[in-house]
Amino acid sequence: MPKILICDPIDPIGTEKLKSAGFAIEFLKHKETLKEIIKDYDAIIVRGRTKVTREIINSGKNLKLIARAGSGLDNIDLEAAREKGVAVINTPEASADSVAELTIGLMVSLARRIPHADYSMKRGEWLKKELMGFLLKGKKLGLIGLGRIGSRVARIAKAMGMEILVTKRTPPPPELMKSLGAKFLPLDELLRQSDIVSIHVPLTEETKNMINAEKISLMKDGAYLINTSRGEVVDEEALLEALRSGKLGGAALDVYSTEPPKRLELIKQPNVICTPHIGAQTVEAQKEVSKAVAEKIIQFFSNHEACS
Ligand code: NAD
Repeated sequence: MPKILICDPIDPIGTEKLKSAGFAIEFLKHKETLKEIIKDYDAIIVRGRTKVTREIINSGKNLKLIARAGSGLDNIDLEAAREKGVAVINTPEASADSVAELTIGLMVSLARRIPHADYSMKRGEWLKKELMGFLLKGKKLGLIGLGRIGSRVARIAKAMGMEILVTKRTPPPPELMKSLGAKFLPLDELLRQSDIVSIHVPLTEETKNMINAEKISLMKDGAYLINTSRGEVVDEEALLEALRSGKLGGAALDVYSTEPPKRLELIKQPNVICTPHIGAQTVEAQKEVSKAVAEKIIQFFSNHEACS
């Protein structure tokens, strides 16, 4: 039976599933040994933490499959995997609801300054007058990306009475746009019109630093930015400048160009709300991700055996 190396922790539900299906499972104990020991395995399971580089892929003499338990594939050298004929799978559908709910939570927190309210009460303060918020109902939410997560955010935001604006690489399905009552706009126009912009694109060459100083300058004065996608999609220096100058009213961030962030200037800004990449950190998502990755591996090897 194929041998599988689990490089980052996953919920036991997936490992049990794989064991019951007869797979030999081992766990990576020391990250630095991966390049050396990968030759013994048919598949590896990683989350975002393990960087699957060209060198690692080329060392996998028996490697047939890289399984990403989770969504983004930006920690895997896809080009190297393709060249070597190694398949790559992921489980983006399993955590989409959790990321969408966190995004909405961050948006409400920005509008009503909930973290500030909580922190000040714990210090014994009563800042009722100072903690004036704003209503989300009737505001324009600009979504960059309308895939699994973006479309879920859109549905909840619509139910809250927000107006939905959308930009994405290809025109979105008309039925979805109709059901959301949403407007499809080019990125620059979406940035000009939105009160709040929320990013839901994958990290690619095209989306890296997509929101830079020039794009921020197009945004409404005092607008808000939410990023639960990938840190590198936003130019963090440009964002810091816009928050310091008051160009932007605030930002909510779950993801950072370096994780954990080494420089704290950005997250320490009073108008920034930050969370430590917890978009998919729900009990349900973690179980679902683990179960889905196991099912996809079992499916992959049963197809693989049938073909060989
Ligand atoms: P998806 O593939 O379903 O949707 C991506 C959307 O981005 C699509 O609408 C696509 O058209 C659009 N897009 C891609 N490139 C674009 C471009 N250059 N310009 C405009 N639009 C573009 O992905 P998803 O499942 O919704 O996830 C989105 C991202 O969220 C993931 O790639 C991942 O990086 C991130 N994510 C974060 C967490 C977290 O814990 N914070 C968890 C899961 C996923």
